[in-house]
Amino acid sequence: MKPTSFLGRSGQRWKLRVSVYLLPYIALAVTVGGQYNLIGATPERNTSFVVIAISIATIGLLSGLFAIRCPTCGTKLLWFAMSNKKVADSLGWLISLSNCPVCGSDGFRS
Ligand SMILES: [Zn+2]
Repeated sequence: MKPTSFLGRSGQRWKLRVSVYLLPYIALAVTVGGQYNLIGATPERNTSFVVIAISIATIGLLSGLFAIRCPTCGTKLLWFAMSNKKVADSLGWLISLSNCPVCGSDGFRS
């Protein structure tokens, strides 16, 4: 079955999964780190854990912003979605995208 979305045709769906779906796991890690504090971890250790978790989440988001691109014109599509659509609508718009909004490419390299 051929992929019907732009991200599927251009082979970039995994990039969105890594950058966006990684974030809930990071939030869970931060929550678990907060729970550690309740059972006797030092505040310094807990702070280090939170800083590492936030860094991983930031790297995930930034990698998605810069790595999800149109293979034809190079438009950063997650960046485009987040800067041109409402935050709540941007991921749905990107997932359902059928052609590049800038050059009209269908996602296959030309
Ligand atoms: Zn394009």
